[in-house]
Amino acid sequence: MYPEWLKRLSVVIPLYNEEENVEELHQRLTDVLTELPFEYEIIYVDDGSTDNTPYLLERISSEDEHVLAMSLRRNFGQTAAFAAGFDFCRGDVIVTMDGDLQNDPADIPRLLEHIDRYDLVSGWRKNRKDPFLSRRLPSMIANWLISKVTGVKLHDYGCSLKAYRREVIKNLNLYGEMHRFIPAVASWYGVRFTEVETTHHPRKRGKSKYGLSRTVKVILDLITVKFLQSFSTKPIQFFGSFGLISGFIGFLISLYLTIRKLFWGEEIGGRPLLLLGVLLIIVGIQLIGMGLISEMLVRVYHESQKKPIYVIKRILGKKEK
Ligand code: UDP
Ligand code: MG
Repeated sequence: MYPEWLKRLSVVIPLYNEEENVEELHQRLTDVLTELPFEYEIIYVDDGSTDNTPYLLERISSEDEHVLAMSLRRNFGQTAAFAAGFDFCRGDVIVTMDGDLQNDPADIPRLLEHIDRYDLVSGWRKNRKDPFLSRRLPSMIANWLISKVTGVKLHDYGCSLKAYRREVIKNLNLYGEMHRFIPAVASWYGVRFTEVETTHHPRKRGKSKYGLSRTVKVILDLITVKFLQSFSTKPIQFFGSFGLISGFIGFLISLYLTIRKLFWGEEIGGRPLLLLGVLLIIVGIQLIGMGLISEMLVRVYHESQKKPIYVIKRILGKKEK
């Protein structure tokens, strides 16, 4: 029931001050993973913890050959920690999850059952066990907004428990800033994804690292993602169209005033409309200029990284030289 190409699984877990959870997490994870019919590795990324997390990880990794543990120099945030783990993992499928036991390791096999037909399987915390006002309500709004704006339909973007095929992660290196948008970004590349209901537990030990402020950051990230999605390869069309409209209206206003001045000899120096006309023309020119500069940036971005504007799924046949 698992695909035959799945020879090794990587589990990537970010940890920030989770000393009370690390040992139980490792135990429960190992119980689940040893039952699976393929190799596995666990990658723990200590995201600059100031408690005993790194020492516990050091011990676990010396005792268990399946474990690769690393410590980031300071607290870079959950997304960066995932990115670090991705850079070191060698599995055919990569599973991500939280390190506070709110996600249940026992759900991993259920995600993997779908990885043969899909490239990305996302967990859905249907019965989420977090405080309503500070966490679930903002999430509901964020989830609604994200699905409207990106056009990607998922119930729960914030769930860390996800399974990816290796290629998905490899193609997404550049978007390391925003792990909750990976499904959205991935879908533009034609990645097939699905959702699986997963269990969610209240946090038993340790403190949540986030509060309401995260919602603001998510919304700003969303604007960035939307912009990248719609215009990253054609910024001139975005800025330029506003520029043209603004410039054109400014031109009409100025033309009107000029005619009144020339043919009726009207005094136009004190008219607010003059100010508006001039402003619109200047703004229009600025916007078009901005569009052109962005076009150059886009080219530098794509060409310097040798990043093609397409993604190949696989090569179907090879021609011998
Ligand atoms: N985390 C991290 N770096 C951070 C914040 C959080 O690596 O700067 C980890 C944290 O240790 C946990 C996961 O990300 O394993 C989710 O964090 P948390 O449980 O605080 O988020 P919540 O479940 O409250 O959304
Ligand atoms: Mg949590």
